[in-house]
Amino acid sequence: MTNETQSRPRPHRVVVVGGGFAGLRAVRSLRGAPVEVTLVDRQNFTLFQPLVYQVATGALSPAEIAAPLRSILRKQRNARVVLAEATGFDLEHREVVLEHLPNRGGSTPLGYDTLIVAGGSRYNYFGHDEWQADAPELKSLAGALDIRSRILAAFEAAELEPDPQLRQAWLTFVVVGAGPTGVEMAGQIAELARDVVRADFRSVDTRAARVLLVEASDRVLMNFPASLSHKATSALERLGVTPLLNHTVVGVADDSVAIRGPAGEVAQKPARTAIWAAGVTASELAARLAEAAGAEVDRSGRVTVEPDLSLPGHPEVLALGDMVRVRAADGSIVPLPGLAPVALQQGRYAARLVRDRLRGQATKPFHYVDKGDLATIGRSKAVADVKGLHLSGFTAWVTWLVVHLFYLIGFQNRLLVLIRWTISFATRGRGARLIVRPPEHSTSHDAADHEPDGLSRRV
Ligand SMILES: Cc1cc2nc3c(=O)[nH]c(=O)nc-3n(C[C@H](O)[C@H](O)[C@H](O)COP(=O)(O)OP(=O)(O)OC[C@H]3O[C@@H](n4cnc5c(N)ncnc54)[C@H](O)[C@@H]3O)c2cc1C
Repeated sequence: MTNETQSRPRPHRVVVVGGGFAGLRAVRSLRGAPVEVTLVDRQNFTLFQPLVYQVATGALSPAEIAAPLRSILRKQRNARVVLAEATGFDLEHREVVLEHLPNRGGSTPLGYDTLIVAGGSRYNYFGHDEWQADAPELKSLAGALDIRSRILAAFEAAELEPDPQLRQAWLTFVVVGAGPTGVEMAGQIAELARDVVRADFRSVDTRAARVLLVEASDRVLMNFPASLSHKATSALERLGVTPLLNHTVVGVADDSVAIRGPAGEVAQKPARTAIWAAGVTASELAARLAEAAGAEVDRSGRVTVEPDLSLPGHPEVLALGDMVRVRAADGSIVPLPGLAPVALQQGRYAARLVRDRLRGQATKPFHYVDKGDLATIGRSKAVADVKGLHLSGFTAWVTWLVVHLFYLIGFQNRLLVLIRWTISFATRGRGARLIVRPPEHSTSHDAADHEPDGLSRRV
């Protein structure tokens, strides 16, 4: 090593934890900056969560909404990817603790000069984590594939089930939570039953399927203006979905869901498939950061960050996306929705802050630009609230299509999804209707109990 290389200053090390909307945008916005970026994620791909429900209902395949982090960053010379789980932070020594590295057990420290944490959020079962086994969440790719298998297996079970009551339980789908995800999911299941798989089955009439959309508040899509909520409710009902407003799920089992109505009465609904799309809570990384820095967390587990997204007392640590809430310059909390545009804008802001600091320049506090809200209900139906402009029906649906294609990562994915959607629109078909694991809701014991025609013995 020459004296020249020995004296060359070490590049500024930026560690980014989380390769979702916020973290990946921060990394990409640091392209060309005089920094050495390490992106740590426990999965090797970034997931386009807004379209996860389409994987869960067989409209899209997993690879069409997920892109490998390495291939996205292939041409970004100042970035590298580490597949590992961040489990802790040593803020004093400026190290992240990594575990589950692919080549070794135990934990490994990773040093940083600037740390950006964007671990996202997870579903909140409101203290009933035991419900997850029978009402899986729609957040991860694994969750989506599990749900897809359960939905498709339920139709298979209904086809073979001679008892009308048990058959109806297989044909009853309960979606918990009528936010955009729950509404989209309920609409897709109804379309699947009514249009897509109807002709594929011989015994069962899949149009008899019931989709119950359970919502604790008094309207669907609470974040939208009331007029759009009402339009969405009508569109759902036309599709065959039953919105149960002012209703709360109070129990989930593998063969039924207990639902409390507005008068306090609890009904046990026989249903073999339940899907959880209710409230979210911040990634556990928020609590770890808060603990390490003595920062606040709110009821949703989000850590409170300063107006420049830094951790109180630690300007070198930034936290972004679903796992944070932001304090304004006057000390108040800025209420920001858990949406991709917030995460993307915060990711871009964090990169700008790093660049400005290296140049010795000040950066204005983070300011979110609200571009509106979109939710689709089914084939050619959606609602959109774009800067006070309320759209519904086909126009909103086209807007939804364009926006989602625009934000989907990778040219190839955009093209594939566009082709898929065009084919689905023209044929009402869904190509990815594969059951890729044995269904957890085994049909065998029910079939064995009811074999008047010997059908169960033959299959
Ligand atoms: C089903 C669904 C539908 C949605 N639809 C919409 C929509 O239509 N429009 C919209 O604007 N928003 C939508 N959202 C919300 C949007 O996806 C989130 O707001 C956004 O993903 C938040 O970005 P993020 O970077 O904070 O977290 P994420 O995108 O979730 O990324 C977090 C990343 O951190 C990684 N990670 C987590 N913990 C660790 C750890 N300990 N170690 C290493 N890596 C870790 C994860 O693997 C992940 O890659 C939807 C969300 C869901 C779940």
